[in-house]
Amino acid sequence: MRFHILTLGCPKNQVDSEGMTQLLTMAGHVEAESPENADYIIVNTCGFIGTAREESLAALREMARHKQPGQMLIAAGCMAERYGTALRRQVPELDGLVGTRRWTQIESLLDLLSRRRQGGELVNLIREGNYSLVRSFPRSARLGVYAYLKIADGCSAPCAFCAIPMIKGPQRSKPQAEIIAEARQLAGLGVKEIILIAQDTTSYGRDRGEIDALPTLIKEITMVAPDLSWLRIMYAYPQHITPHLIEVMARHPQVCHYLDMPLQHGHPDVLRCMGRPADTQRTLAIIEDLRTAMPDIALRTAFIVGYPGETEEEFTALLGFMERSAFDKVGIFVYSPEEGTRAATLPNQIADEVKNERYERAMELQQRISLQVNKAQIGRQMEVLVEGFGDGISVGRTYRDAPEIDGLVLVEGEALVGDIVAVRITGAIEYDLIGVVAGE
Ligand code: SF4
Repeated sequence: MRFHILTLGCPKNQVDSEGMTQLLTMAGHVEAESPENADYIIVNTCGFIGTAREESLAALREMARHKQPGQMLIAAGCMAERYGTALRRQVPELDGLVGTRRWTQIESLLDLLSRRRQGGELVNLIREGNYSLVRSFPRSARLGVYAYLKIADGCSAPCAFCAIPMIKGPQRSKPQAEIIAEARQLAGLGVKEIILIAQDTTSYGRDRGEIDALPTLIKEITMVAPDLSWLRIMYAYPQHITPHLIEVMARHPQVCHYLDMPLQHGHPDVLRCMGRPADTQRTLAIIEDLRTAMPDIALRTAFIVGYPGETEEEFTALLGFMERSAFDKVGIFVYSPEEGTRAATLPNQIADEVKNERYERAMELQQRISLQVNKAQIGRQMEVLVEGFGDGISVGRTYRDAPEIDGLVLVEGEALVGDIVAVRITGAIEYDLIGVVAGE
């Protein structure tokens, strides 16, 4: 049978989609390039926040609108997990559901659907046990220059605004041996950059009682994949960044001097209300330690504005914190209440116009900081991993930029995709850099 997977949401979903593709291919099914040519259309949904849900629902409805007789429509991923059979009220054409805790049974779902008549009962593979699945699977040879490697799934943090623990269950770490095997395989397939992901990578191993397991894992990966150019760490929980981790990041040349550590706010009272680490002085000390150990490190974070009860004074303190910490890259998010979370029930929800006005002010400040940071790169010679070219220009990234969320470097001349070229930076705009191949 032919299947087509449409993936929405974050890199964690991309990894699960790749896993489903591999499992179905190994079972003899064939991937179709477009939904029109598929017997099974699988939409791997995102259910994290309102806008992501709307996008997932729109994609499901679009697929439903074009569904042909004999085709089956399946919702997978977070939204399927979160809403279960209630999704069918919104998309009556749905035939099957598979959640984040059972996606490895995608083949069984297709099998069950093939034996059921068209338009029959919804086949529902949601929830079995409390945990999301962190199973390894053979990685695909079709990968590009970078690949995500999921080291854990689920989350055990108590953030009051976040629906992830509800959707995915508590954290469960993938066994180290499986991660090492995947890393070795990815490097063997020619991948230049491996990006470690989880809801919180720095919590890796804590569910097994290991307090500081990430640095050891990183060291192991660099040993089994010596030809790997870059190893990048995403989604670090600030208070779990240890001196050992900083030391390993600084010492191993393959590890990108880059860290994404979502802080969510810069005022202790708001952070406390969020259920997040509220010791901002400690957070600033960690940032300083990172910058001392790696003066060229690029730091990314995310902040939420308009959290319930956030006063003008607390918001101003956030702006002050942003100035002081001067992150290279920042994502600003307007708070949106998520059904089932503690924050959604808090009094003093902030009016939309106030939230939006705060968003604009925070964005304006960060754009100024990011532009300054980018201008400081002018004159530097940096390695650029080429990801595309055309019209006499190559497009790539430096270690300072994670794919899909950070900026790009536009380089004069056409280089081969997958090459790492030395580039002298000659110009900067807010998010991107401009350069020429060094020596030209
Ligand atoms: S650490 Fe991240 S994923 Fe986990 S509950 Fe907090 S915001 Fe959600």
